[in-house]
Amino acid sequence: MVSGEFDLIETYFAGLTRPRADVLLGVGDDCALLAPPVGQALAVSIDTLVEGRHFAPGADAFGLGHKALAVNLSDLAAMGAEAAWFTLALSLPRIDDAWLSGFSRGLATLAERHGVGLVGGDTTRGPLTITIQVHGFVPPAEALRRGGARPGDLVYVTGTLGAAGLALLVRQGLYAAPEHLGELFDRLDRPEPRIEAGCALRGIASAAIDVSDGLAADLGHICRASGVGATLYLDQLPCGPGVREYIAESGDWHLPLGAGDDYELCVCVPADRQGDFEHAAARWGHGATWVGTIDARPGVRVIDPEGGAVAVGAAGFDHFADN
Ligand code: ADP
Ligand code: MG
Repeated sequence: MVSGEFDLIETYFAGLTRPRADVLLGVGDDCALLAPPVGQALAVSIDTLVEGRHFAPGADAFGLGHKALAVNLSDLAAMGAEAAWFTLALSLPRIDDAWLSGFSRGLATLAERHGVGLVGGDTTRGPLTITIQVHGFVPPAEALRRGGARPGDLVYVTGTLGAAGLALLVRQGLYAAPEHLGELFDRLDRPEPRIEAGCALRGIASAAIDVSDGLAADLGHICRASGVGATLYLDQLPCGPGVREYIAESGDWHLPLGAGDDYELCVCVPADRQGDFEHAAARWGHGATWVGTIDARPGVRVIDPEGGAVAVGAAGFDHFADN
């Protein structure tokens, strides 16, 4: 049982500082001292998970540690950035050693896999809230911005879509548990950030975004930033475990099109780079699938398997939509 804030930081978090040459000083002083590589842009992103909003009370601590870091690393991936460091602001209602131990192991396991070091943070008492800021590196001219898509570009997504949304339906008791249950919950609780894919797409993709709010909504962000539109083909969407069965039973395509939390990459590729893209994608275990095309007309259009247009009510998730 740790006693107090400093013991807590020392016991559960100080060990997550990695021996990286670019960390001159990690956890423990007033600031971390970091040495970003000369000539690269520092890519910075921050995300917060709030109990009762992003996860249910009692959610598995190891999974929360994984997910809090994974959703941040996913933003670096979508920028084409290599991951380097992160900071952690934690608000805890009480010191719970079992929770802290699981949470820090979840963080450490994913951090180790991507070689990222925890370099500082803040710990306060309050409602359970986890904020992580990540820092990565990318050559500035090769960053995968949202504004670079052009008419004629091909739209791809990595991995598969919809399984995280299906897992949420099952967890909420809204859908009877199908097979592949463990894999399904892994897709919701332990998303794998596509850092390797993001870095490989430097100099190939014209634009990229990670699919956190649903494909139609996130591709919509690329379209607005780029001043273009897009057409998606339902029968091309790569579906995660159990998702095809759900669609067959319900006739409802919202899982691969509008459900969030998959953390795959949606990537736009100029037609003359298609060969380079597919060559790169062939090396990823999760692969990538062509799902549509960028065009000049604003908005995202969706075509069903019979060739008809589908109304997209999938505006994505907006925390202040009811404001
Ligand atoms: P200060 O009062 O100077 O802001 P703190 O008491 O907040 O310092 O933190 C002491 C040290 O512990 C700092 O180096 C800070 O970055 C680190 N730290 C605090 N909380 C965490 C955490 N949850 N994870 C990692 N490092 C932390
Ligand atoms: Mg502080």
